[in-house]
Amino acid sequence: MSSKPDYYDVLEVSRGADAATIKKAYRKIAMKNHPDRNPGDSAAEERFKTAAEAYDVLSNEEKRSIYDTYGHAGLSSQGMGAGDVNDIFSNFSDIFSDFFGFGGRQQQRSPNAPARGDDMKMGLRCGFEFAVHGGRKTVQVPRSASCDDCDGSGAKEGTSPTRCPNCGGSGQTRHSQGLFTIQTTCRSCRGSGQFIAEPCETCRGQGQVTRRDDVVVTIPAGVESGMRLRLREEGGGGRNGAPPGDLYIVLEVEESDIFERNGSDLHLPLPVDFPTAALGGDVEIPLLEGSAKVRIKPGTQHGDRHRLRGEGLPIVNQRGRGDLYVHYQLEVPTNLNKRQKKLLREFLEESGSEATGHGNLFSRISSLFEKPKSADKEKGDDGHPD
Ligand SMILES: [Zn+2]
Ligand SMILES: [Zn+2]
Repeated sequence: MSSKPDYYDVLEVSRGADAATIKKAYRKIAMKNHPDRNPGDSAAEERFKTAAEAYDVLSNEEKRSIYDTYGHAGLSSQGMGAGDVNDIFSNFSDIFSDFFGFGGRQQQRSPNAPARGDDMKMGLRCGFEFAVHGGRKTVQVPRSASCDDCDGSGAKEGTSPTRCPNCGGSGQTRHSQGLFTIQTTCRSCRGSGQFIAEPCETCRGQGQVTRRDDVVVTIPAGVESGMRLRLREEGGGGRNGAPPGDLYIVLEVEESDIFERNGSDLHLPLPVDFPTAALGGDVEIPLLEGSAKVRIKPGTQHGDRHRLRGEGLPIVNQRGRGDLYVHYQLEVPTNLNKRQKKLLREFLEESGSEATGHGNLFSRISSLFEKPKSADKEKGDDGHPD
């Protein structure tokens, strides 16, 4: 009893110190002497314990008043000498969590707990033709997996992990000071509870390696760029028996040389010569598979379009297909020979101002620029009016 130090001396505060000063003083001493920071230093441990005891009393108004009046003897006669271990710890947890990062008595997640693998994302490029029909592609996925050489134990072949000598396999170390106990994650094994004397060389003791695995991706017909395929449990390997994460394949589909694409619809610009547009006729157009004959109606204009139902791309994961639109693009002949020019002039004379088929538009534009109505007198051999 008499050997007990004065609590005010322990915390190095005056007898009239207020609560904030006491708390601050205690925090300083506790930090400095915390067993976690002074492993094996029994003097520090003793200072830490005594400071905790002093703080327990001086931070409590009732205990402090008894101590001030009767000293240590007063506290023990009241059964207040040493507080309950857990109570003391919880009282101080706010102080500890700030400075030691173990969040008071909060339990940390064990490294041995099952943990689902990471989700992964990979890009996959495929040609336009491939996207039309869909199919399978094999991708190499660099993913974490349990090490085969050590069966995921991390210990060299022929050896096995043993109990961590520091924590006895619990993954937690407890510093028991009689007055209370502090539990922290074992520093030797980082909470796994295992000690690996000879680490596996393949995985350097991690128990996991990164492997390039072949994964077959089934691509549905009609996919387009930006579409995402989810492959369940084909992502990163899980730990401690937990399932792997998912693998997301983000598609990039190449453009077609022939068709322009809009979702599952296709657009085909089709050059048409002017006599065919005027007189009508049949033309052969390419389809996704094979070809088809399209009848051009007499009097077809530049920009007119023709729709072929169901000749577009398959709609992903649905029945049916998009449509194919043929866009007629009138071509004006160049490099005409003499006879062709003569025929066209005759045609023009025969047709008058209606020759262009855009009589109204033509006259509107003409009046806008106040140009002579007809510029077909005598021009250079290139046949282009200026
Ligand atoms: Zn290994
Ligand atoms: Zn340990």
